[in-house]
Amino acid sequence: MQYRRFGKTEMRLSVFSLGLMRYMSGDPDNATRVVQRGVELGINHLETARGYGTSEDLLGRALKAIDRTSVHITTKIAPRPTYDRFMQDFETSMEKIGIDVLDNLDIHGINNEQKFAWAVDEKQTWRAVRKLLDSGTVKHVGFSTHGKTPILLKTVNTEMFESINLHYYWFYQAHAPVIERAAELDMGVFIISPNEKGGLLFKPTETLQRLSAPLHPMHLNQRWLLADPRIHTLSVGPSVPEELDAPMAVADNVGPLTEQERAALQRWEEHRRASLGADFCTECQKCLPCPEGIDIPELLRLRNAAVAFDMLEYGTFRYNLLDGSFDWFHGQMGDHCTECGQCLPRCPEKLAIPRLLFDTHDLLKRGRGKRLWG
Ligand code: SF4
Ligand code: SF4
Repeated sequence: MQYRRFGKTEMRLSVFSLGLMRYMSGDPDNATRVVQRGVELGINHLETARGYGTSEDLLGRALKAIDRTSVHITTKIAPRPTYDRFMQDFETSMEKIGIDVLDNLDIHGINNEQKFAWAVDEKQTWRAVRKLLDSGTVKHVGFSTHGKTPILLKTVNTEMFESINLHYYWFYQAHAPVIERAAELDMGVFIISPNEKGGLLFKPTETLQRLSAPLHPMHLNQRWLLADPRIHTLSVGPSVPEELDAPMAVADNVGPLTEQERAALQRWEEHRRASLGADFCTECQKCLPCPEGIDIPELLRLRNAAVAFDMLEYGTFRYNLLDGSFDWFHGQMGDHCTECGQCLPRCPEKLAIPRLLFDTHDLLKRGRGKRLWG
């Protein structure tokens, strides 16, 4: 296992962090075994959240089976409209985990303007954060987000946070400007779920396997991330200890991309462009906003992956989470397009956006899965 300085926090974190959202399955001892196995493999960063059901309780139990001083703990707590509610949540988390000092507190889910406003409110959530930092109860504060690039940049640019926990993968590069800005500010950069939300890469499609061979697509994506020194740690979220072994295969391999890796990634890129032809969306985001609240780049990103790499399961998984809000899962489904045409002149690729959105819906709406591109 390799370790990297987590930006200005000065914590030295393992390049893989143990995300404890999914490990609640199985018997009650399963969680402890997951943590023990992670520590054995060299992981020194454990990440949970107030909102992950029994995860904090199980972490508290698991900590009794390992050397607490050998790990850094992050828990995530959502911003609240009042100081008292945030403090109550914080105290609940500390009690459940069974610790007096928290290494890193992430403000959970700064996904939109409302959450941003609550997070940085000096009289409410941020007053609580300041008090916890001043008293030494919390050593560092960062934030996690499922938001779009502008709200991420706005939050980063407050310079109130020491680290960021975000989505960024080969299959989702829209946040590249955020990575750049975070590096300029010497922030810790923690990538959420590269193997699952980054493309269900632990069970890659045959197309992706063929294009990656002899490498594994999951390892290629991890290597693409870890070859970037601005990125410090990637989450891995096993439900059982055995699921840790495969992702960890690259844990000592953090140097620049090899020729073989570069060639495989080049094959991905060339195949994507060739498969999508004139319908390739570059995910530049210039078409936004849509008056119907459709996150056009995100929908076409999922279409790109489904059409070019047969990633229908991934696309369906993500598409069917869309709930019409702009918080955790952004915006409306493609069938909400009224063909108003407002986005069309803004697209540098001159894409027929309404047609592609209806196509995406037919392709990815659960239970449909019709391939309209022939
Ligand atoms: S044409 Fe459709 S996607 Fe484009 S702005 Fe209008 S409603 Fe939104
Ligand atoms: S402007 Fe065009 S290429 Fe850019 S994200 Fe929107 S649809 Fe895709």
